[in-house]
Amino acid sequence: MFSDKKEFKQAFSRKLRTELGKEVHVATDLDAYRSLSSLVQDEILESWKENYEQKHAQAPKQMYYFSMEFLMGRLLGNNLLNMQVLEMVEEGLNELGFSLSKIEDNETDAGLGNGGLGRLAACFLDSLASLGMAGHGMGLRYRYGMFDQRIVKGHQVEVPDLWLNHGFAWEVRRPEEAIEVTFGGYVNSKKGKDGNLHFSHQGYETLRAVPYDVPVVGYEGETINTLRLWSAEPSEQDILHLAAKYDDYHNMLHHQRKLESISDFLYPDDSTEEGKQLRLKQEYFLVSAGVQHAVRQFEQQDLPYQELPKKFAFHINDTHPALVIPELMRILLDEKQLGWKEAWDITTAAVSYTNHTTLSEALETWPVDMVRNLMPRICMIIEEINERFCKSLWKSYPEDFERIAHLAIVADGQVKMAHLSVVGSHSVNGVANLHTEILKKREMKVFYETFPEKFNNKTNGITHRRWLMHANKPLSHIISEAIGSGWKENPAELKQLMQFRDDSVMLDSIHRVKQQNKEHFSDWLYKDCGILVDPESLFDVHIKRLHGYKRQLLNALHILHLYNEIKSNRDFDLTPRTFFFGAKAAPGYYFAKKVIKLINTIADVVNHDPDVQDKLKVVFLENYSVSLAEKIIPAANISEQISTASKEASGTGNMKLMMNGAVTVGTMDGANIEIYEQVGEENIYTFGLRPEEVLKIYQDGGYLSKDVYEQEERVRKAVDQLVHYSPITKGDKEFRDIYDALLLHNDEYFVLKDMPDYIRAQQKISEDYQQTRQWSQKSLANIAQSGLFSSDRTIKEYADDIWGLASLKTLT
Ligand SMILES: *Cc1c(COP(=O)(O)O)cnc(C)c1O
Repeated sequence: MFSDKKEFKQAFSRKLRTELGKEVHVATDLDAYRSLSSLVQDEILESWKENYEQKHAQAPKQMYYFSMEFLMGRLLGNNLLNMQVLEMVEEGLNELGFSLSKIEDNETDAGLGNGGLGRLAACFLDSLASLGMAGHGMGLRYRYGMFDQRIVKGHQVEVPDLWLNHGFAWEVRRPEEAIEVTFGGYVNSKKGKDGNLHFSHQGYETLRAVPYDVPVVGYEGETINTLRLWSAEPSEQDILHLAAKYDDYHNMLHHQRKLESISDFLYPDDSTEEGKQLRLKQEYFLVSAGVQHAVRQFEQQDLPYQELPKKFAFHINDTHPALVIPELMRILLDEKQLGWKEAWDITTAAVSYTNHTTLSEALETWPVDMVRNLMPRICMIIEEINERFCKSLWKSYPEDFERIAHLAIVADGQVKMAHLSVVGSHSVNGVANLHTEILKKREMKVFYETFPEKFNNKTNGITHRRWLMHANKPLSHIISEAIGSGWKENPAELKQLMQFRDDSVMLDSIHRVKQQNKEHFSDWLYKDCGILVDPESLFDVHIKRLHGYKRQLLNALHILHLYNEIKSNRDFDLTPRTFFFGAKAAPGYYFAKKVIKLINTIADVVNHDPDVQDKLKVVFLENYSVSLAEKIIPAANISEQISTASKEASGTGNMKLMMNGAVTVGTMDGANIEIYEQVGEENIYTFGLRPEEVLKIYQDGGYLSKDVYEQEERVRKAVDQLVHYSPITKGDKEFRDIYDALLLHNDEYFVLKDMPDYIRAQQKISEDYQQTRQWSQKSLANIAQSGLFSSDRTIKEYADDIWGLASLKTLT
């Protein structure tokens, strides 16, 4: 539709006229966004269907990535980039008097995820399409995504995310492919002619799952995959049925509304599982619609069901979609009349599972009764899987009651979703080397002994297209000038940058680009948020969900410590620093919200104290999201990755920051360890307890935080300011609970224990940052060694080792 700039400008102006009735000279940036996205979507749709039929229908194998979350962020820029028209469009828009980046700022993030897990799914989709693999997303179309965070008087306030208000330009509703999902009712059994018991599910309520497809454009536009988001709607039949059942119209509407509400909102919890019935319904709704859809597709190929795992792989992103296992069993047993063993072999060969956490509070369990009420047949199948599994254990480990009790899928009235996922799949992977080792040696030790062949590691990655090529165009440009543009296809080539370690011109460029990015971000921050920062100061960036184990509190206490030093010694030599935080707390997570309030209170005190004006500044960025991440990451000097060792499974924020030349200050945790191995100790600042030390102390019942408090004056001084009369408390008890968590409840996350070493590492950073040339070398080394953390590498490993998925790039 537009192959050159002239054609593009014409098509764009026509869109403005035909869809919005506006001429270019009166169009706003929002108008321009609407027209441009519509124009780009037209272009994508033009080749989508064809692309699908030519390639995917003949693809040897397809993979469905089931995830309750896809944190996609904005799509316009990414689509333009991958279609390779970004520069042309940017120029064309400039000539028409628009700025592309301002237009992009009018796109609402698709925030259908909480954080790392959902963003990983989004990066994976980008890599799958870019590598030319037939891998598609299966998710839910939440009417409200992750809440918008506002800070009011220092507190977090959650505002509903109305992301669909202006319409979502990238989706195509496909009512003709709707699928019925059933809930409730009971199960009848009957002996069939074959002498076997046959089960039928009756008395249920049906709900219609309507798919909305979002095209996922791979780099160079060759492959266009699909993210399929299911939405709950009553069918016309249901409405008629309801209307007949109710004599009151309003009660009928109310009931209908309740049905639709299944896909209303995303649970805004990170790392805890609450066990709410609606959440379980959401999980089954996604899984049932997705698996039924895949089986239908498979049936078009006219092959025996035994061939299904050769044609389809089903991956579950954490345990939330684990019901894929009993749902596929249900279809094969009840609808296709296969025997148990056949169905089981097919199911386990098709399903693979990623574990994302070792936090015990995050392990999903559901009351059996709840499962039975909502999905009686699924519950029976889970119980049968459990029975057979326990029997087989009994055979292999006779009399080993302990092992069986430990591994059972159903126990104490609960269904353990992680156990179901391990038993019902052929592959279980962790997301970083350390994480996988902890799974094998500790959290899932007995499972590992039982099924050693299932366990493997796939260290997470991020797409370098969004996080470097699109988010940081100036840096991408100087990289290509130095080493050519091969790294775009093959990010491992970034290593070639190491040749420039002693090249003054290159080091100057690295410094200059970072400085420009800092100025650019500071301008945006001032214009859009009214916050003034000094781009000459060191930008220290701590962005991620707010959680005890991620230890934003440690960072906050360190800032208090610096503040104390400056106040007690005017000559205290500190490299001027701006501390940035971005973090959402789960709405019900009391402690996390207190930490947000504390950070904002410290910011208030520090930013208004004339004594520290040119040395310290603290900024809490409202509403941390993908689009905000893309703005701040290119401007970061320091990447804060300071989780309690052993607690962060991998992290991906650490990778994004590294790839943009930020230097990590971090614990030996998650993928930080692999970053350390890549860059070497002179290009990273590590501190604190090591994972094995933390695990040992936990095993021995914790440590005495009072000891650190008593021995370390710097720690004591900062902590006391949380409760004594200080500029922070101004006499009230707001932060008493934080103080108690640290001292009374023995500091579960080792904040005080690690604080002295953290102060030391930060001190070193302050000194080293003064050496501009050496600092640029560190920055360069981080960029150069970040290729390993491209999700292209991760996806190739999944494709080879787990899915048996090939690239279609050569197929035409
Ligand atoms: C990358 C990303 C995360 C994950 O960050 P971690 O530091 O790995 O926890 C969370 N939220 C958003 C918006 C992200 O882009």
